[in-house]
Amino acid sequence: MARRIRMEPSRTLTEFRLLPGLTTRETSIDRISLESPLVLRPDGGGIALKTPLLAAAMQSVSGPRMGIELARLGGAAVIYCSQSIADEAAMVAAIKAHKAGFVEPRTIGPDVRLRDVEALRRQYGFSTFPVVSPDGRLLGLITRRDYDARIHADVSAKERMVPRAQLDVGVGITDLEAANALLIEGHRAVLPIVDRDDRLLSLVFRKDIEDHLDNPDQVVDERKRLLAFAAVNTHDFESRVPALVEAGVDVLVIDSSDGHTTFQRDTLQWIRRCAPNLPVIGGNVITGEGFDYLVAAGAGAVKVGMGGGSMCITQEQKGTGRGLATAVMEVVAARDRHEAKTGVHVPVIADGGVVNSKDVIIGLTLGADAIMMGRFFARMEESPTETVRINDRVMKPYWGEGSARAREWSPARYRQAAFVEGVEGFVEYAGKLRDNLPLMISKVKSAMSSCGCRTIAELHANAELELVSALAIREGKVHDILQLGGEVDSLSSWST
Ligand code: IMP
Repeated sequence: MARRIRMEPSRTLTEFRLLPGLTTRETSIDRISLESPLVLRPDGGGIALKTPLLAAAMQSVSGPRMGIELARLGGAAVIYCSQSIADEAAMVAAIKAHKAGFVEPRTIGPDVRLRDVEALRRQYGFSTFPVVSPDGRLLGLITRRDYDARIHADVSAKERMVPRAQLDVGVGITDLEAANALLIEGHRAVLPIVDRDDRLLSLVFRKDIEDHLDNPDQVVDERKRLLAFAAVNTHDFESRVPALVEAGVDVLVIDSSDGHTTFQRDTLQWIRRCAPNLPVIGGNVITGEGFDYLVAAGAGAVKVGMGGGSMCITQEQKGTGRGLATAVMEVVAARDRHEAKTGVHVPVIADGGVVNSKDVIIGLTLGADAIMMGRFFARMEESPTETVRINDRVMKPYWGEGSARAREWSPARYRQAAFVEGVEGFVEYAGKLRDNLPLMISKVKSAMSSCGCRTIAELHANAELELVSALAIREGKVHDILQLGGEVDSLSSWST
Protein backbone atom coordinates (compact mmCIF):
# COMPACT_ATOMS: atom_id res chain seq x y z
CA MET A 1 0.00 0.00 0.00
CA ALA A 2 1.10 3.59 -0.59
CA ARG A 3 2.83 5.42 2.30
CA ARG A 4 -0.25 7.61 2.56
CA ILE A 5 -3.62 7.68 0.86
CA ARG A 6 -5.42 10.99 1.18
CA MET A 7 -9.15 10.37 0.99
CA GLU A 8 -10.17 14.04 0.81
CA PRO A 9 -10.53 14.86 -2.91
CA SER A 10 -8.38 17.68 -4.19
CA ARG A 11 -10.16 20.86 -5.26
CA THR A 12 -9.98 23.19 -8.24
CA LEU A 13 -10.25 26.99 -8.11
CA THR A 14 -13.61 26.74 -9.83
CA GLU A 15 -15.15 25.05 -6.76
CA PHE A 16 -14.78 28.08 -4.50
CA ARG A 17 -16.71 31.33 -4.17
CA LEU A 18 -15.91 34.48 -2.17
CA LEU A 19 -18.20 35.70 0.58
CA PRO A 20 -18.53 39.49 0.57
CA GLY A 21 -17.25 41.54 3.52
CA LEU A 22 -18.02 45.14 4.45
CA THR A 23 -17.39 47.48 1.50
CA THR A 24 -16.54 51.06 2.42
CA ARG A 25 -15.32 54.20 0.69
CA GLU A 26 -11.76 53.06 1.52
CA THR A 27 -12.32 49.88 -0.44
CA SER A 28 -13.83 51.46 -3.54
CA ILE A 29 -12.25 50.17 -6.76
CA ASP A 30 -10.09 53.25 -7.40
CA ARG A 31 -8.36 52.77 -4.01
CA ILE A 32 -7.51 49.11 -4.51
CA SER A 33 -3.93 48.06 -5.22
CA LEU A 34 -2.95 44.74 -6.75
CA GLU A 35 0.73 45.27 -6.02
CA SER A 36 2.19 42.01 -4.82
CA PRO A 37 5.61 40.53 -4.06
CA LEU A 38 6.80 38.22 -6.83
CA VAL A 39 10.27 36.99 -5.92
CA LEU A 40 12.92 37.57 -3.25
CA ARG A 41 16.52 38.46 -3.98
CA PRO A 42 19.16 36.59 -2.03
CA ASP A 43 20.36 39.93 -0.54
CA GLY A 44 16.99 40.39 1.15
CA GLY A 45 15.38 42.75 -1.38
CA GLY A 46 12.77 41.64 -3.84
CA ILE A 47 10.74 42.31 -6.96
CA ALA A 48 7.05 43.18 -6.81
CA LEU A 49 4.49 43.48 -9.62
CA LYS A 50 1.71 46.06 -9.81
CA THR A 51 -0.27 43.54 -11.86
CA PRO A 52 0.47 40.12 -10.31
CA LEU A 53 0.02 38.15 -13.53
CA LEU A 54 2.64 36.17 -15.44
CA ALA A 55 2.48 34.84 -18.99
CA ALA A 56 3.70 31.23 -19.08
CA ALA A 57 7.12 30.24 -20.43
CA MET A 58 5.71 28.67 -23.59
CA GLN A 59 6.54 28.92 -27.30
CA SER A 60 2.96 29.87 -28.11
CA VAL A 61 2.71 32.49 -25.35
CA SER A 62 5.79 34.48 -24.36
CA GLY A 63 8.10 36.09 -26.90
CA PRO A 64 9.61 39.58 -26.67
CA ARG A 65 6.42 41.31 -27.81
CA MET A 66 4.49 39.81 -24.92
CA GLY A 67 7.47 40.49 -22.62
CA ILE A 68 7.42 44.18 -23.47
CA GLU A 69 3.68 44.78 -23.47
CA LEU A 70 2.92 42.83 -20.30
CA ALA A 71 5.81 44.53 -18.43
CA ARG A 72 4.42 47.92 -19.52
CA LEU A 73 1.08 46.91 -18.03
CA GLY A 74 2.67 45.89 -14.73
CA GLY A 75 2.98 42.11 -15.19
CA ALA A 76 5.66 39.79 -16.58
CA ALA A 77 6.02 37.30 -19.43
CA VAL A 78 8.59 34.54 -18.97
CA ILE A 79 10.58 33.96 -22.17
CA TYR A 80 10.54 30.23 -22.95
CA CYS A 81 13.65 28.06 -22.83
CA SER A 82 12.54 25.51 -25.43
CA GLN A 83 14.71 27.23 -28.02
CA SER A 84 18.42 27.74 -28.59
CA ILE A 85 20.37 29.65 -25.95
CA ALA A 86 21.24 32.36 -28.50
CA ASP A 87 17.59 32.86 -29.49
CA GLU A 88 16.41 33.09 -25.89
CA ALA A 89 19.20 35.54 -25.01
CA ALA A 90 18.27 37.68 -28.06
CA MET A 91 14.65 37.85 -26.84
CA VAL A 92 15.79 38.97 -23.38
CA ALA A 93 18.07 41.58 -24.98
CA ALA A 94 15.14 42.88 -27.07
CA ILE A 95 13.08 43.44 -23.91
CA LYS A 96 15.96 45.20 -22.18
CA ALA A 97 16.53 47.39 -25.25
CA HIS A 98 12.97 48.66 -24.95
CA LYS A 99 13.88 51.05 -22.22
CA ALA A 100 11.19 53.11 -20.60
CA GLY A 101 12.48 56.54 -21.57
CA PHE A 102 16.24 56.27 -22.15
CA VAL A 103 17.12 53.84 -24.96
CA GLU A 104 20.52 52.26 -25.44
CA PRO A 105 20.58 52.42 -29.22
CA ARG A 106 22.17 50.15 -31.80
CA THR A 107 24.91 52.40 -33.24
CA ILE A 108 26.65 52.28 -36.61
CA GLY A 109 29.99 53.49 -37.96
CA PRO A 110 30.18 56.35 -40.53
CA ASP A 111 31.22 54.07 -43.40
CA VAL A 112 28.39 51.55 -43.07
CA ARG A 113 26.44 51.28 -46.35
CA LEU A 114 22.79 52.23 -46.23
CA ARG A 115 21.92 48.78 -47.62
CA ASP A 116 23.21 47.39 -44.29
CA VAL A 117 21.41 50.07 -42.30
CA GLU A 118 18.19 49.03 -44.02
CA ALA A 119 18.90 45.38 -43.12
CA LEU A 120 19.44 46.38 -39.47
CA ARG A 121 16.20 48.34 -39.52
CA ARG A 122 14.31 45.27 -40.70
CA GLN A 123 16.06 42.98 -38.22
CA TYR A 124 15.61 45.13 -35.11
CA GLY A 125 12.52 47.14 -36.03
CA PHE A 126 14.31 50.43 -35.10
CA SER A 127 14.55 53.21 -37.67
CA THR A 128 16.86 55.67 -35.86
CA PHE A 129 20.58 54.86 -35.78
CA PRO A 130 23.19 57.13 -34.19
CA VAL A 131 26.42 57.28 -36.21
CA VAL A 132 29.46 57.14 -33.93
CA SER A 133 33.26 57.21 -34.24
CA PRO A 134 35.29 54.17 -33.12
CA ASP A 135 35.72 55.81 -29.67
CA GLY A 136 31.95 56.32 -29.31
CA ARG A 137 31.69 60.05 -30.14
CA LEU A 138 28.45 61.14 -31.77
CA LEU A 139 28.96 62.02 -35.46
CA GLY A 140 25.33 62.23 -36.58
CA LEU A 141 21.97 60.56 -36.69
CA ILE A 142 20.36 58.66 -39.54
CA THR A 143 16.65 57.82 -39.71
CA ARG A 144 14.41 56.23 -42.30
CA ARG A 145 13.56 59.72 -43.57
CA ASP A 146 17.19 60.46 -44.54
CA TYR A 147 17.61 57.93 -47.36
CA ASP A 148 15.85 55.97 -50.06
CA ALA A 149 16.64 52.26 -49.65
CA ARG A 150 16.85 51.68 -53.43
CA ILE A 151 18.65 54.83 -54.56
CA HIS A 152 21.13 55.06 -51.66
CA ALA A 153 21.88 51.37 -51.10
CA ASP A 154 25.63 51.82 -51.80
CA VAL A 155 25.95 55.26 -50.18
CA SER A 156 27.64 55.41 -46.75
CA ALA A 157 25.83 56.57 -43.61
CA LYS A 158 28.03 59.66 -43.21
CA GLU A 159 26.85 61.02 -46.58
CA ARG A 160 23.13 60.98 -45.65
CA MET A 161 23.13 61.45 -41.84
CA VAL A 162 22.07 64.63 -40.08
CA PRO A 163 25.50 65.75 -38.82
CA ARG A 164 26.31 66.39 -35.18
CA ALA A 165 26.45 70.17 -35.69
CA GLN A 166 22.77 70.23 -36.66
CA LEU A 167 21.58 68.12 -33.71
CA ASP A 168 20.28 69.21 -30.31
CA VAL A 169 21.77 67.00 -27.61
CA GLY A 170 21.34 66.65 -23.86
CA VAL A 171 24.63 66.56 -21.96
CA GLY A 172 24.60 64.07 -19.07
CA ILE A 173 20.83 64.27 -18.59
CA THR A 174 19.35 61.48 -16.44
CA ASP A 175 15.95 62.97 -15.76
CA LEU A 176 13.10 62.26 -18.20
CA GLU A 177 11.32 65.54 -17.43
CA ALA A 178 14.48 67.52 -18.34
CA ALA A 179 14.88 65.51 -21.55
CA ASN A 180 11.24 66.13 -22.39
CA ALA A 181 11.68 69.90 -21.91
CA LEU A 182 14.62 69.91 -24.38
CA LEU A 183 12.66 67.86 -26.92
CA ILE A 184 9.75 70.28 -26.80
CA GLU A 185 12.02 73.33 -26.86
CA GLY A 186 13.82 72.10 -29.99
CA HIS A 187 10.67 70.73 -31.73
CA ARG A 188 12.48 67.38 -31.91
CA ALA A 189 11.24 63.76 -31.87
CA VAL A 190 14.54 62.32 -30.61
CA LEU A 191 17.26 63.61 -28.32
CA PRO A 192 20.74 62.01 -28.13
CA ILE A 193 22.20 62.10 -24.62
CA VAL A 194 26.00 62.46 -24.56
CA ASP A 195 28.67 62.81 -21.86
CA ARG A 196 30.98 65.80 -21.55
CA ASP A 197 33.31 64.33 -24.20
CA ASP A 198 30.43 63.99 -26.66
CA ARG A 199 30.32 60.21 -26.27
CA LEU A 200 26.84 58.84 -26.90
CA LEU A 201 25.07 57.50 -23.79
CA SER A 202 21.48 57.00 -24.91
CA LEU A 203 18.57 58.30 -26.97
CA VAL A 204 15.31 59.72 -25.64
CA PHE A 205 12.27 59.55 -27.91
CA ARG A 206 9.34 61.86 -27.46
CA LYS A 207 6.91 58.97 -28.08
CA ASP A 208 8.63 56.89 -25.37
CA ILE A 209 8.20 59.65 -22.81
CA GLU A 210 4.51 59.82 -23.59
CA ASP A 211 4.36 56.04 -23.44
CA HIS A 212 6.11 56.05 -20.07
CA LEU A 213 3.57 58.49 -18.69
CA ASP A 214 0.76 56.30 -20.10
CA ASN A 215 2.05 53.20 -18.27
CA PRO A 216 2.35 54.08 -14.61
CA ASP A 217 2.38 50.41 -13.55
CA GLN A 218 5.27 49.29 -15.72
CA VAL A 219 8.01 47.26 -14.07
CA VAL A 220 11.47 48.73 -14.60
CA ASP A 221 15.01 48.35 -13.28
CA GLU A 222 17.06 51.14 -11.71
CA ARG A 223 18.08 52.28 -15.22
CA LYS A 224 14.42 52.53 -16.21
CA ARG A 225 14.60 49.52 -18.53
CA LEU A 226 11.71 47.04 -18.51
CA LEU A 227 12.34 43.90 -16.44
CA ALA A 228 13.03 40.72 -18.41
CA PHE A 229 12.04 37.27 -17.11
CA ALA A 230 13.42 34.09 -18.67
CA ALA A 231 13.05 30.36 -18.15
CA VAL A 232 15.91 27.90 -17.73
CA ASN A 233 15.90 24.11 -17.53
CA THR A 234 17.84 21.67 -15.38
CA HIS A 235 19.87 20.34 -18.34
CA ASP A 236 21.84 23.11 -20.04
CA PHE A 237 21.73 25.75 -17.28
CA GLU A 238 25.52 25.97 -17.05
CA SER A 239 25.66 27.53 -20.52
CA ARG A 240 22.16 29.06 -20.67
CA VAL A 241 22.28 31.10 -17.44
CA PRO A 242 25.50 33.01 -18.28
CA ALA A 243 24.10 33.92 -21.73
CA LEU A 244 20.87 35.20 -20.20
CA VAL A 245 22.77 37.15 -17.55
CA GLU A 246 24.88 38.69 -20.31
CA ALA A 247 21.67 39.68 -22.15
CA GLY A 248 20.43 41.45 -18.99
CA VAL A 249 17.88 39.03 -17.51
CA ASP A 250 16.34 40.20 -14.21
CA VAL A 251 14.60 37.05 -12.97
CA LEU A 252 15.12 33.37 -13.82
CA VAL A 253 12.31 30.84 -13.69
CA ILE A 254 13.22 27.17 -13.53
CA ASP A 255 10.82 25.53 -15.94
CA SER A 256 9.86 22.07 -14.81
CA SER A 257 6.59 20.18 -14.50
CA ASP A 258 7.98 18.51 -11.36
CA GLY A 259 10.36 20.72 -9.41
CA HIS A 260 10.69 18.55 -6.30
CA THR A 261 13.92 17.00 -7.59
CA THR A 262 17.61 16.96 -6.81
CA PHE A 263 18.18 18.29 -10.37
CA GLN A 264 16.32 21.45 -9.49
CA ARG A 265 18.20 21.77 -6.19
CA ASP A 266 21.51 21.44 -8.05
CA THR A 267 20.42 24.04 -10.62
CA LEU A 268 19.37 26.49 -7.88
CA GLN A 269 22.62 26.02 -5.98
CA TRP A 270 24.68 26.46 -9.15
CA ILE A 271 22.85 29.71 -10.00
CA ARG A 272 23.39 30.95 -6.42
CA ARG A 273 27.14 30.46 -6.86
CA CYS A 274 27.42 31.95 -10.36
CA ALA A 275 24.92 34.81 -10.16
CA PRO A 276 24.70 35.38 -6.41
CA ASN A 277 22.02 38.07 -6.34
CA LEU A 278 19.85 37.01 -9.28
CA PRO A 279 16.31 36.13 -8.13
CA VAL A 280 15.14 32.63 -9.10
CA ILE A 281 11.61 31.24 -9.11
CA GLY A 282 11.56 27.48 -8.54
CA GLY A 283 8.84 24.91 -9.25
CA ASN A 284 6.48 23.45 -9.98
CA VAL A 285 5.52 21.72 -6.75
CA ILE A 286 2.15 20.70 -5.31
CA THR A 287 3.07 19.78 -1.73
CA GLY A 288 4.34 21.60 1.34
CA GLU A 289 7.32 19.25 1.32
CA GLY A 290 8.18 20.37 -2.22
CA PHE A 291 7.96 24.03 -1.16
CA ASP A 292 10.29 23.52 1.84
CA TYR A 293 12.77 21.65 -0.34
CA LEU A 294 13.03 24.41 -2.97
CA VAL A 295 13.23 27.23 -0.43
CA ALA A 296 16.03 25.41 1.39
CA ALA A 297 17.82 25.09 -1.97
CA GLY A 298 17.61 28.86 -2.55
CA ALA A 299 14.36 29.56 -4.47
CA GLY A 300 13.15 33.15 -4.05
CA ALA A 301 9.57 32.18 -4.96
CA VAL A 302 7.81 28.91 -5.68
CA LYS A 303 5.46 28.10 -8.53
CA VAL A 304 2.60 25.70 -7.77
CA GLY A 305 0.54 23.43 -9.99
CA MET A 306 0.70 20.11 -11.79
CA GLY A 307 -1.60 18.56 -14.32
CA GLY A 308 -4.21 21.32 -14.51
CA GLY A 309 -3.04 23.25 -17.60
CA SER A 310 -5.64 23.68 -20.33
CA MET A 311 -3.55 21.70 -22.85
CA CYS A 312 -2.01 19.33 -20.30
CA ILE A 313 -2.43 15.54 -20.37
CA THR A 314 0.03 14.76 -17.55
CA GLN A 315 -2.72 13.43 -15.26
CA GLU A 316 -4.08 11.24 -18.04
CA GLN A 317 -0.66 9.91 -18.99
CA LYS A 318 1.06 9.50 -15.63
CA GLY A 319 -1.64 9.78 -12.99
CA THR A 320 0.33 12.56 -11.26
CA GLY A 321 -1.21 15.92 -10.39
CA ARG A 322 -3.50 17.74 -8.01
CA GLY A 323 -6.39 20.20 -8.13
CA LEU A 324 -4.79 23.65 -8.14
CA ALA A 325 -6.77 24.99 -5.16
CA THR A 326 -5.66 22.15 -2.88
CA ALA A 327 -2.06 22.45 -4.08
CA VAL A 328 -2.05 26.20 -3.41
CA MET A 329 -3.63 25.77 0.04
CA GLU A 330 -1.07 23.17 1.12
CA VAL A 331 1.90 25.16 -0.21
CA VAL A 332 0.59 28.41 1.28
CA ALA A 333 0.27 26.67 4.66
CA ALA A 334 3.95 25.64 4.39
CA ARG A 335 4.86 29.17 3.29
CA ASP A 336 3.05 30.64 6.32
CA ARG A 337 4.83 28.22 8.68
CA HIS A 338 8.14 29.27 7.11
CA GLU A 339 7.21 32.94 7.53
CA ALA A 340 6.23 32.45 11.18
CA LYS A 341 9.62 30.81 11.82
CA THR A 342 11.89 33.13 9.81
CA GLY A 343 9.91 36.34 9.24
CA VAL A 344 10.48 35.89 5.50
CA HIS A 345 7.51 35.84 3.12
CA VAL A 346 8.35 33.63 0.13
CA PRO A 347 5.96 34.45 -2.74
CA VAL A 348 3.84 31.65 -4.17
CA ILE A 349 2.64 31.63 -7.79
CA ALA A 350 -0.39 29.57 -8.86
CA ASP A 351 0.03 28.04 -12.34
CA GLY A 352 -2.01 25.88 -14.71
CA GLY A 353 -5.75 25.84 -15.28
CA VAL A 354 -6.43 29.48 -14.35
CA VAL A 355 -9.03 30.39 -16.92
CA ASN A 356 -10.40 33.85 -16.17
CA SER A 357 -10.83 36.69 -13.64
CA LYS A 358 -12.89 34.49 -11.31
CA ASP A 359 -10.08 31.94 -11.04
CA VAL A 360 -7.49 34.71 -10.60
CA ILE A 361 -9.29 36.20 -7.59
CA ILE A 362 -9.91 32.78 -6.00
CA GLY A 363 -6.23 31.82 -6.51
CA LEU A 364 -5.07 35.06 -4.91
CA THR A 365 -7.49 34.70 -2.00
CA LEU A 366 -6.28 31.16 -1.33
CA GLY A 367 -2.90 32.75 -0.61
CA ALA A 368 -1.07 32.97 -3.94
CA ASP A 369 0.89 36.19 -4.49
CA ALA A 370 0.71 35.99 -8.27
CA ILE A 371 -0.92 33.92 -11.01
CA MET A 372 0.63 32.41 -14.15
CA MET A 373 -1.48 31.72 -17.25
CA GLY A 374 -0.79 30.24 -20.65
CA ARG A 375 -4.11 29.95 -22.50
CA PHE A 376 -5.28 33.40 -21.41
CA PHE A 377 -2.23 35.15 -22.88
CA ALA A 378 -1.97 32.85 -25.95
CA ARG A 379 -5.23 34.47 -27.16
CA MET A 380 -3.70 37.93 -27.31
CA GLU A 381 -2.36 39.78 -30.32
CA GLU A 382 1.08 39.92 -28.64
CA SER A 383 1.56 36.13 -28.37
CA PRO A 384 4.08 34.87 -30.96
CA THR A 385 1.55 33.05 -33.20
CA GLU A 386 -0.50 34.15 -36.22
CA THR A 387 -4.31 34.09 -36.25
CA VAL A 388 -6.15 31.47 -38.29
CA ARG A 389 -9.79 31.29 -39.32
CA ILE A 390 -11.67 28.09 -38.36
CA ASN A 391 -15.38 27.90 -39.18
CA ASP A 392 -15.70 31.69 -39.17
CA ARG A 393 -13.98 32.01 -35.81
CA VAL A 394 -10.66 33.80 -35.49
CA MET A 395 -8.33 31.58 -33.48
CA LYS A 396 -4.68 31.36 -32.46
CA PRO A 397 -2.72 28.12 -32.17
CA TYR A 398 -1.77 27.04 -28.64
CA TRP A 399 0.38 24.04 -27.72
CA GLY A 400 1.92 22.63 -24.55
CA GLU A 401 5.65 22.68 -23.87
CA GLY A 402 5.41 18.90 -23.49
CA SER A 403 3.67 18.47 -26.85
CA ALA A 404 5.29 16.96 -29.93
CA ARG A 405 5.24 20.38 -31.61
CA ALA A 406 7.16 22.12 -28.81
CA ARG A 407 9.78 19.39 -28.78
CA GLU A 408 10.62 19.88 -32.43
CA TRP A 409 13.16 22.54 -31.46
CA SER A 410 15.56 19.87 -30.19
CA PRO A 411 14.61 16.31 -31.17
CA ALA A 412 17.88 14.99 -29.65
CA ARG A 413 16.93 16.22 -26.17
CA TYR A 414 13.60 14.39 -26.17
CA ARG A 415 14.83 11.16 -27.78
CA GLN A 416 14.11 9.22 -24.59
CA ALA A 417 10.70 10.77 -23.95
CA ALA A 418 8.48 8.18 -25.58
CA PHE A 419 5.21 9.99 -24.76
CA VAL A 420 3.96 13.56 -24.77
CA GLU A 421 2.43 15.46 -21.82
CA GLY A 422 0.66 18.20 -23.74
CA VAL A 423 -1.50 18.64 -26.82
CA GLU A 424 -1.79 21.13 -29.63
CA GLY A 425 -4.98 23.08 -30.36
CA PHE A 426 -6.53 26.51 -30.85
CA VAL A 427 -7.84 29.28 -28.61
CA GLU A 428 -10.19 32.10 -29.52
CA TYR A 429 -8.34 35.25 -30.57
CA ALA A 430 -9.04 38.06 -28.09
CA GLY A 431 -7.28 41.12 -29.58
CA LYS A 432 -4.72 43.36 -27.93
CA LEU A 433 -3.52 42.69 -24.39
CA ARG A 434 -4.12 46.36 -23.59
CA ASP A 435 -7.81 45.94 -24.47
CA ASN A 436 -8.24 42.80 -22.35
CA LEU A 437 -6.07 43.10 -19.26
CA PRO A 438 -7.70 46.23 -17.77
CA LEU A 439 -11.06 44.44 -17.92
CA MET A 440 -9.69 41.46 -16.04
CA ILE A 441 -8.03 43.74 -13.50
CA SER A 442 -11.21 45.69 -12.91
CA LYS A 443 -13.15 42.45 -12.26
CA VAL A 444 -10.51 41.34 -9.74
CA LYS A 445 -10.57 44.75 -8.04
CA SER A 446 -14.35 44.72 -7.98
CA ALA A 447 -14.30 41.37 -6.16
CA MET A 448 -11.75 42.74 -3.66
CA SER A 449 -13.96 45.74 -3.10
CA SER A 450 -16.91 43.43 -2.35
CA CYS A 451 -14.73 41.65 0.20
CA GLY A 452 -13.71 44.95 1.80
CA CYS A 453 -10.01 44.40 0.98
CA ARG A 454 -7.75 47.13 -0.40
CA THR A 455 -4.66 45.00 -0.92
CA ILE A 456 -3.75 41.40 -1.65
CA ALA A 457 -2.25 41.17 1.85
CA GLU A 458 -5.68 42.16 3.25
CA LEU A 459 -7.31 39.60 0.97
CA HIS A 460 -5.03 36.92 2.43
CA ALA A 461 -5.75 38.03 5.98
CA ASN A 462 -9.46 38.89 5.89
CA ALA A 463 -11.38 37.44 2.96
CA GLU A 464 -13.64 34.40 3.32
CA LEU A 465 -14.01 31.61 0.80
CA GLU A 466 -16.56 28.85 0.59
CA LEU A 467 -16.51 25.51 -1.15
CA VAL A 468 -19.64 25.28 -3.27
CA SER A 469 -21.61 22.28 -4.48
CA ALA A 470 -21.82 21.25 -8.12
CA LEU A 471 -25.45 22.37 -8.04
CA ALA A 472 -24.49 25.79 -6.69
CA ILE A 473 -21.96 26.15 -9.54
CA ARG A 474 -24.75 25.36 -12.02
CA GLU A 475 -26.99 27.88 -10.33
CA GLY A 476 -24.25 30.49 -10.69
CA LYS A 477 -24.33 30.14 -14.48
CA VAL A 478 -27.11 31.22 -16.80
CA HIS A 479 -29.90 28.70 -16.39
CA ASP A 480 -33.45 28.03 -17.44
CA ILE A 481 -33.49 30.68 -20.12
CA LEU A 482 -32.60 30.55 -23.79
CA GLN A 483 -29.69 32.99 -23.82
CA LEU A 484 -29.23 35.22 -26.83
CA GLY A 485 -26.10 34.12 -28.67
CA GLY A 486 -25.18 31.66 -25.90
CA GLU A 487 -23.73 28.26 -26.78
CA VAL A 488 -20.33 27.70 -25.16
CA ASP A 489 -20.27 24.91 -22.60
CA SER A 490 -16.66 24.66 -21.48
CA LEU A 491 -15.01 24.47 -18.06
CA SER A 492 -15.42 28.22 -17.96
CA SER A 493 -16.42 30.76 -20.57
CA TRP A 494 -13.99 32.26 -23.08
CA SER A 495 -14.28 35.58 -21.29
CA THR A 496 -11.54 37.35 -19.39
P1 IMP B 1 -3.06 27.22 -18.78
O1 IMP B 1 -2.98 28.62 -18.27
O2 IMP B 1 -4.19 26.45 -18.20
O3 IMP B 1 -3.06 27.16 -20.27
O4 IMP B 1 -1.73 26.47 -18.26
C1 IMP B 1 -0.43 26.93 -18.50
C2 IMP B 1 0.56 26.10 -17.71
O5 IMP B 1 0.53 24.72 -18.11
C3 IMP B 1 2.01 26.48 -17.89
O6 IMP B 1 2.39 27.59 -17.15
C4 IMP B 1 2.74 25.21 -17.44
O7 IMP B 1 2.87 25.12 -16.04
C5 IMP B 1 1.80 24.11 -17.88
N1 IMP B 1 2.23 23.47 -19.13
C6 IMP B 1 2.79 24.01 -20.24
N2 IMP B 1 2.97 23.10 -21.21
C7 IMP B 1 2.54 21.93 -20.71
C8 IMP B 1 2.46 20.60 -21.25
O8 IMP B 1 2.78 20.31 -22.41
N3 IMP B 1 1.93 19.66 -20.41
C9 IMP B 1 1.53 19.93 -19.14
N4 IMP B 1 1.55 21.17 -18.61
C10 IMP B 1 2.06 22.16 -19.39
